[in-house]
Amino acid sequence: GTVYLNGHFMPLAEARVPVLDRGFLFGDGVYEVIPAYDRKPLRLHAHLDRLERSLAGIRLANPLSRADWEGIFAHLLRSHEAANQALYLQVTRGAPDGRDHRFPENTSPTVFVMTKALAPRNPRIAEQGVSAVLCEDTRWQRCDIKSISLVAAVLLRQEAADQGAEEALLVRDGRVVEGSTSNLFVIRDRYVTTPPTGPELLSGITRDLIIELAGRERLPLTEQPVSVEDCRSADELWICSSTRELVPVTRLDGEPVGDGRVGPLWQQLDAAYQACKAELGQS
Ligand code: PLP
Repeated sequence: GTVYLNGHFMPLAEARVPVLDRGFLFGDGVYEVIPAYDRKPLRLHAHLDRLERSLAGIRLANPLSRADWEGIFAHLLRSHEAANQALYLQVTRGAPDGRDHRFPENTSPTVFVMTKALAPRNPRIAEQGVSAVLCEDTRWQRCDIKSISLVAAVLLRQEAADQGAEEALLVRDGRVVEGSTSNLFVIRDRYVTTPPTGPELLSGITRDLIIELAGRERLPLTEQPVSVEDCRSADELWICSSTRELVPVTRLDGEPVGDGRVGPLWQQLDAAYQACKAELGQS
């Protein structure tokens, strides 16, 4: 497929980054993942706003204007055969001529964008849900920055996979903050709760959309801290992200969540989410 690297479109096989790139040496960069349905990005401005915040968080200027970003996305979306895609962009602090933790004097960032087909959801997810496990959150204290330094998340997601689970739900100071690659919603007595945003979790674009849709569906929802006990005694648990959408979690640490079946509120909100995607296609 075609990718964008530092001002040029090229085949993926031809895209090369120097070994001294600070993304490679230090994980010194940030990224975004933007879903597109019928080649139209969902919540594009929210993603570009978050990119701006992530860049500010690592003290790197945005190398491109919004119009530039949008032009690159449009080009890549057109060049790919799939109608539904996930755009991936990454900005690093570039490749100075040596390895020094301190910022280089003249930063020339590396900008990379690619796209791939967004696979349709496995029907088993809507029928049976997925399993999750609770893990101690070993990440840093700025999880609100969408940093490419992902080794803690990699280890946690693998820990979940080793236990046969789809996601690791992360516990910090007794509070369940989010998944290793997703945000969390807890439902009890038809009441929806999600942990408040802050440095300990990534402010998910899908999370914001679910909050909005819950409002439209007149479901009571609050943003407040969630305990391990809240998760264990929930009627329903959901995780969400741009590429997975809204996913019901029906087993936690091997025990059923609620009655162990996909819940009615998940069905309701997933329908609202699917309708939102369909509207995008018609716009
Ligand atoms: N939290 C973490 C740690 C993530 O990596 C992600 C996305 O992959 C999310 C939450 C969900 O964010 P979004 O809905 O913007 O994809």
